[in-house]
Amino acid sequence: MTAISLGMPAAPPPVLAPRRRTRQIQVGKVGVGSDHPISVQSMTTTLTADVNSTLQQIAELTASGCDIVRVACPSQDDAEALAEIAQHSQIPVIADIHFQPKYVFAAIEAGCAAVRVNPGNIRAFDDQVKEIAAAAKDHGTSIRIGVNAGSLDKRLLEKYGKATPEALVESAVWEAGLFEEHDFHDFKISVKHNDPVIMVRAYELLAERGDWPLHLGVTEAGPAFQGTIKSATAFGALLSKGIGDTIRVSLSAPPVEEVKVGIQILQSLNLRPRKLEIVSCPSCGRAQVDVYKLAEEVTAGLEGMEVPLRVAVMGCVVNGPGEAREADLGVASGNGKGQIFVKGEVIKTVPESQIVETLIEEAMKIAEGMEAVDGMAPSVNVG
Ligand code: SF4
Repeated sequence: MTAISLGMPAAPPPVLAPRRRTRQIQVGKVGVGSDHPISVQSMTTTLTADVNSTLQQIAELTASGCDIVRVACPSQDDAEALAEIAQHSQIPVIADIHFQPKYVFAAIEAGCAAVRVNPGNIRAFDDQVKEIAAAAKDHGTSIRIGVNAGSLDKRLLEKYGKATPEALVESAVWEAGLFEEHDFHDFKISVKHNDPVIMVRAYELLAERGDWPLHLGVTEAGPAFQGTIKSATAFGALLSKGIGDTIRVSLSAPPVEEVKVGIQILQSLNLRPRKLEIVSCPSCGRAQVDVYKLAEEVTAGLEGMEVPLRVAVMGCVVNGPGEAREADLGVASGNGKGQIFVKGEVIKTVPESQIVETLIEEAMKIAEGMEAVDGMAPSVNVG
C-alpha cells in the first residue's frame, strides 16, 4: 500500500501577475473588484418573461458554477418577471437593458442585483443618469456600463470611423463620468469587441484611465470552438497582466458551456482553485491503447469531482511515469495493461479493461484522504 502524502497546506499556486487594484463593488452577494475572486458570469437564453424556464436555466447555471447571471429585458412582460426571478435565483441577477430607461428603474425596483446599460443607446439614458444613480443607490444596485462594438455611440463612430479601442474607451469613460458626476461609483465597465486584439487593447487603455472594476468579454465570439479560443486568448492576455475582475465567455452554445469555459480559463491561470484536471497525452505512433477513448472515459467517470485532483492518462510508458509523478494519480498504458501510479509510484498493474474503474477507485481513496484533512466531501460520478 502506497502512503499518500497529504502533508501541510501547500503555498498558493503562482499567478502571472498581481491583480490590478480597483474599487470594490457588490453585485448582490458577489463582490467584484481586486479584493474578490474573479467571478464567472453567463446569460440566460430563455424568454425572460417565461419565469419557470428562466429560473430552471439559472438553476442549471448555478449548479455549473456560475457566479452571476444576466437576463435580457426587452419588453414590459420581461420587466414584470424580474422581481420573481431575482427573488428565487440563488445567484445575483443582472438585468440587461437597452434603449428603455423605464426598464432600468423597473429592474432596480424588482430587486435585481445590478443593471447593465449600454452607452451606445444611452442617449435615452443620459438625461436620466441622475435619477438612475439615485434609484440604484437607494436600492444598493450596482451598474455595468457595457460598451459594445456592435452598438457604439453614433457620435463616436463618426469621430473614429469604426469601433477602435480608443472609441470604445471614450464611450465608456464618458458614461463613467456622467455617473460619477452624480456621485455614483458602484459600477463596473466592459468594452467588448469581437476581435480579441482590439478588445485586449481597449481594456488595456481603459485600465489606465481609472480604478473601475472591469468585466471582460469578447462579444459575439462565435460557436463553441472558435469562441472558446478567442475568449481564452483575449482573457489570458489581460488576466496575465492582472486586468479583469469578472468574466463572461460568449458562445453560440448553451450557457452552461460558457461557464465551464470561463472556469477553466481561470483555473488554468491559477486564478481559481483547480479541481479535477486530466493531463492526457495527445497519443502518437507508440500508443498501445486508444488514448482518446480512455481519457474521455476517465473524464466522464470523474466528472463532478470537487477535490483538486490531477490525473494523468498516458498512452505508453515513455512519458507516463514522468507525468504521473507530477500528478496525484495516473495510468501509463501498454501491452493491454495499465500501470497505475499514485503520487508517481506504481501501485499496481491492471488489465486494460479495468483501468477506468481502478482510477475511479483510487481517486475516491485520495478524495477521502483529502476530506479527512480539509473536510472536503469526495464526490465522483461512478454511475
Ligand atoms: S505518452 Fe506515449 S503514446 Fe502518449 S504521446 Fe507520449 S510517447 Fe506517444
